[in-house]
Amino acid sequence: MKESKNVASIGSMGEFGLINHLTKNFKHVNKSTLTAVGDDAAVIECGADCMLVTTDLLVEGVHFDLMYTPLRHLGYKSVVVNLSDIYAMNGKPEQITVSIAISAKITLTALDELYAGIKAACERYGVDLIGGDTTTSITGMTISVTALGRVKRDEICYRSGAKINHLVCVTGNLGAAYLGLQLLEREKELYLKDPNTQPEISGYPYCIERILKPENTPAILQLLRENNILPSAMMDVSDGLSSDILHICSQSGVSCKIFEDKIPIHPETRLLAEEFHLDPSIAALNGGEDYELLFTADPVHYEKLSAIEGIHVIGYITDTANQPVLVARNGVEVALKAQGWNHFNK
Ligand code: ADP
Ligand code: MG
Repeated sequence: MKESKNVASIGSMGEFGLINHLTKNFKHVNKSTLTAVGDDAAVIECGADCMLVTTDLLVEGVHFDLMYTPLRHLGYKSVVVNLSDIYAMNGKPEQITVSIAISAKITLTALDELYAGIKAACERYGVDLIGGDTTTSITGMTISVTALGRVKRDEICYRSGAKINHLVCVTGNLGAAYLGLQLLEREKELYLKDPNTQPEISGYPYCIERILKPENTPAILQLLRENNILPSAMMDVSDGLSSDILHICSQSGVSCKIFEDKIPIHPETRLLAEEFHLDPSIAALNGGEDYELLFTADPVHYEKLSAIEGIHVIGYITDTANQPVLVARNGVEVALKAQGWNHFNK
C-alpha cells in the first residue's frame, strides 16, 4: 500500500522533478566542481581546460529491444548517446568507460558483437575505452557508458546562455528515429502474431538507421568554430525538440518562438509518417532520440548560419512576457509544451 503510493508520487514528479528532488540538498565541497547536475555534462576544472563528464544508462526492455536491435548497433549507439552530451557542451570527447550487467541468456558471441560496435564508435569518434565494470543481471541487460571530454573554459556552451532575440538553430533533421522505432515495433507485433511473416522495413533505411545506429555531428561544431560562431546556449536533442528547447528557455530565463515550417524533416520521415497517419512535425517535436544539436546564437551570425549546410534556423528567443510558442504552418500560434502535441492538433 505504502509502496504504491510512493511509486505514484514519483510518477507525478516527472524525471526532472525527481532528479531535482534527489540532488537539491547536495553542496559541493571541491572548488574544481564548476557545474554539476542540470546540463548535458558536468564541468570540472582541469588545468587550463575543463573536463566534461556525462553518463547514460541503457536498459533492456526500456531503451532497447533485443528482438530487433543488433548488438553491434547497440554497442555503437551506447557510445554515441554519451558523446552527444560532450559535443552538446561544445567539447571534444576523449575517453569512455563501459559497464555491463548481463543475464545468463547472453552468449560470448553476442558480447563480442556488442564490443565490436563499441570499438567501431571509439574509432569513428577518436575516443579511448579506459575501463568499466562487469556483473550479472537476473533480469535483462544493462549498459552504462560514461564519457569524458575536454573543452576550453571560454568555449563551454551551457543550456543557460540564451539571450533575447538570439536565433534558435538545429542541426540535421528531426523525427526520423521516432518513426524508425514505430516501424520496428509494428513489425515486431506482426511477427509475434505470426512468426512466418517477413518484416517489411526495407523501404525506410534512413529512419531505421537513425534509431538503431545514430551518429554525432562534430563536423558542425568545427564549422561553427571556423566561422567564429560560439553558440550562446546548446544541448543535444534527446527527448524531442519541444521538451529540449524548453530546457534551454527555463535555464536561460527566456522564452521562444519556433516556426513549424522551419523544422527540418527528412523526406523519408515524411513518407513513413504518412504511412502511420502521423504528423511528422509531432514526431520532430515529441519523438526524441535524434541526437542532433539544438543551439542559440547571436542574430549577427544569421547570414553565416544560414549558409552552413546542416544548420537550420527554426526560430528565435523572446522574453518571458511571452509564452514559448510554435507558429503552426497556418500561422496560428500554439503553446509549446513538453508533451503539448494534443494542443497542436490541426
Ligand atoms: P541528458 O538527457 O542530457 O543525458 P538527463 O536528462 O539524463 O541529461 O540528466 C539531466 C541532468 O541530471 C544531468 O546533469 C545529469 O547528470 C543529472 N542526473 C540525472 N540523473 C541523476 C541522478 N540519479 N543523480 C544525480 N544526477 C542525475
Ligand atoms: Mg543531453
